[in-house]
Amino acid sequence: MSDLLVLAHEDVKRLLAMDDCIELMADALAELARGDSWQPLRFVVRPPEEQSLMGLMPAHRSSPQSAYGLKTVCIFPGNPARGLDAHQGGVMLFDGETGELRALVDASAVTSIRTAAVSAVATRTLARPNSRVLAILGSGVQARAHLEAMARVLSFEQARIWSRTAEHAQAFAAEAEEPFPVQAVESAENAVRGADVVVTVTSAREPIIERAWLAPGAHVNAVGSSIPTARELDSATIAAAALFVDRRESTLNESGEYLRAVEEEGIGPGHIRAELGEVLVGSHEGRSDDELTVFISLGLAVEDLAAAEYLYRRARSEGAGAVVSF
Ligand code: NDP
Repeated sequence: MSDLLVLAHEDVKRLLAMDDCIELMADALAELARGDSWQPLRFVVRPPEEQSLMGLMPAHRSSPQSAYGLKTVCIFPGNPARGLDAHQGGVMLFDGETGELRALVDASAVTSIRTAAVSAVATRTLARPNSRVLAILGSGVQARAHLEAMARVLSFEQARIWSRTAEHAQAFAAEAEEPFPVQAVESAENAVRGADVVVTVTSAREPIIERAWLAPGAHVNAVGSSIPTARELDSATIAAAALFVDRRESTLNESGEYLRAVEEEGIGPGHIRAELGEVLVGSHEGRSDDELTVFISLGLAVEDLAAAEYLYRRARSEGAGAVVSF
C-alpha cells in the first residue's frame, strides 16, 4: 500500500494561486519546447448521439524528477444550467520511478486556473507591454479566470465583456473586483474594436470575431475552441495574424480555427510562427512591431501534470488534502 493524496476543488483553488500558476505554466511550456516532457495527442471519447464527451490527456516528464500524469475530463455542456462546471474529472499523478498513484486532483479547478495562466504567459510574451484595453468574449468559468489572470500580467485601464446572453455579461461585470472598470457591452464588435488584448472563451461553434474589428498590434488569445468542429475566430483573422500555438501537433489535428483557415485561406503548417514555449526558450521570435498576434490555446496534458506535481508538493508540505492508503 502507498499513500494517495486527494485534493478537492477548494484545496486546488487555495493552493494554486494565479501568480504561481503563471510561472509554473511558463516553465512547463519551456520544458516541452526543450524536450524534457512529452505527450501524445489527447484521446477523445465521443459516444454516438451523445452531447457530452470524455477527454484523456496523458503526459510524461523526465526531469528534474520523472512523473506521469493523466487528466480525465468529462465535458457536459448542460452543466452550467445546473450550476455545475461543464468540465468535471480528475488529474492523476503517478510516481515516475515506481508508477504508484500519488495524487488525485480535482480537474475542473486545475483546468480553469492553468488555462487562464497559460493565456497570461502568452499575453505577457506576445502582447504589447503598453496594452490598456482588454476585451473578454464569454462570461463563464474561463472568462472569470481569465479576467484575474490578464490583470496579473499587464496594466489594463478597462475591460469590456460581451457574452451571448446579455444578463450573464452584466452579472460578470458587476461581480468583478479588478482595480479598473469592467463594463458589459452589447455586441462582440463593440468589445473588440479598439481593444489591445482580446480573449475568446466561449463555446461558440462559428466565428464571433471578424478580422476587420481587430486593431493593428492587437493580441488575441483564442481559448474556447479545442476541437476541429468549433472556432471563434474567422479564417481571415488566422490568415492575417502572426500565429502562435501551445503545440504544433495539437493545432494541426485539433484546432477548428487552424483547420478551417487551411480550407478557406490556404494556409499550411508554415503559417504557425512558433509554439509559445519556443518563444520562451528563445529559439523563435515573438511579435514584431504592429503585427496582429493570435495565440491558439488547445490545452495540454503537460500543463495539468505540472499543476498536479506542484499541488502534490505543496499540499504534502502543508499537510493539506486527504491522504488515503491505496
Ligand atoms: P462555460 O460553460 O462556463 O461558459 C461558456 C460560455 O460560452 C458562456 O459565456 C456562454 O455564453 C458562451 N457560449 C455558449 N455557446 C455559445 C455560442 N454558440 N455562441 C457564443 N457564445 C456561446 O465554459 P468555460 O468557461 O468552462 O469554457 C469556455 C470554452 O473554453 C469552452 O468551449 C471550453 O471547452 C473551452 N476550454 C478551453 C480550454 C483550453 O485549454 N483551451 C480549457 C477549458 C475550457 P452565455 O452564458 O452568455 O450564453
